[in-house]
Amino acid sequence: MANYNNKANYNIGDAFYNWKIIGHSDKKGRNNSTYVKCQCICGKIKDVDLHNLKRGQSKSCGCIKPIKPINVRQIKIGDVFGKLTVNDFSWP
Ligand SMILES: [Zn+2]
Repeated sequence: MANYNNKANYNIGDAFYNWKIIGHSDKKGRNNSTYVKCQCICGKIKDVDLHNLKRGQSKSCGCIKPIKPINVRQIKIGDVFGKLTVNDFSWP
């Protein structure tokens, strides 16, 4: 059995920012760095360098505001959503 855990130290299910580790990746980066298979909260799956993941250098697949289901740039003040009307923007 391949020694996958030689340098790698992670658990399936670990979450880093928007990423969640879902499995091991066979991909190897420069310096033989370890990659893990991650799923972004938007659903995209990608091989991510574990080192970048742990250092917070990779936080998501690149989706800008992954928590918001709709593109905020398409919302204008005055837009109506059901009973709600947009009258201001608030940024976290
Ligand atoms: Zn994403």
